[in-house]
Amino acid sequence: HAAMALDKAGYEVVIFDNLSTGHEEFMHFGKGVVGDLADKNALTDLFDRHDFAAVMHFAAHAYVGESVFEPAKYYRNNVVNTLNLLEVMKAHDVGCFIFSSTCATYGDPVQLPITETHPQNPVNPYGRTKLAVEWMLRDFDRAYGMKYCALRYFNAAGAAPQEMNAGIGEIHTPETHLIPLVLQAALDPGKTVKVFGTDYDTRDGSCIRDYVHVCDLADAHILSMERLFAGEASTVYNLGNGDGYSVKEVIDCAAKVTGRDIAVQASPRREGDPATLVGNAEKARHELGWKQNFSSLDAIIGTAWDWEQSLG
Ligand code: UDP
Repeated sequence: HAAMALDKAGYEVVIFDNLSTGHEEFMHFGKGVVGDLADKNALTDLFDRHDFAAVMHFAAHAYVGESVFEPAKYYRNNVVNTLNLLEVMKAHDVGCFIFSSTCATYGDPVQLPITETHPQNPVNPYGRTKLAVEWMLRDFDRAYGMKYCALRYFNAAGAAPQEMNAGIGEIHTPETHLIPLVLQAALDPGKTVKVFGTDYDTRDGSCIRDYVHVCDLADAHILSMERLFAGEASTVYNLGNGDGYSVKEVIDCAAKVTGRDIAVQASPRREGDPATLVGNAEKARHELGWKQNFSSLDAIIGTAWDWEQSLG
């Protein structure tokens, strides 16, 4: 989605992806190169062949639950491989980096909604790997003058609206994310959605999250990059809608948007999940002029539903 937004804004895009979870048929906005961040020679070759103005780094493992059981996989890919990328950028004098960070760097909130100055005490390895990179970025800026924006996403969701004919959306195998799983259950009466934890200290006992549309996230990447191009200092931004929805509320909203029944089953808590994560994105709105085109959960789920049905 970011490649599409960059392409529409007139930038030339090169996408570097090992296709471990990505899809070659989605690499049509810009030039696609298949390669791995673990392979510094491939990265060096890529940077030798292109004169990059900026790098946006999305490649990471991002499953909270899996990170608890397979931390080595997370530290290697999310930290070591990011270091490879930063070192190759430094060697090629590329000094503008937009990083996909996460609200998982905050851990259990001590104050809501979460602002950028909230303490960062991540409660799972995924969040810790992203925080390690945030520290790396601060150090690279101080020592080498590499400018960055760390964008702390809340829950990315939705897909490019159908009228854009973009042909891109979410496909994970296996799928673990709430909204696509709920929509798959809406399509297939044989499927049941598990609610991970019904005894949290929230209004209905299920976890509360702040869902933000992928196209709005993509816009924030371009605005952040252009702010660095204009000579502004490195910084961090929360990217969320500021509205928290419980797992049960997401399921109810999906039932309304789809007009289908969704089978639900109460299940044990998933390891590593804080009860509530809701962000304050005032700083991004104020400093970047970021505006969300998809601020309601109905609208976000509506685009995800169109996408899920198109996979039919
Ligand atoms: N969740 C759930 N059932 C599922 C998948 C997720 O109850 O089958 C919950 C999960 O515990 C979390 C919220 O839904 O509280 C969002 O999870 P997701 O995996 O979509 O995103 P994450 O918060 O891990 O980025």
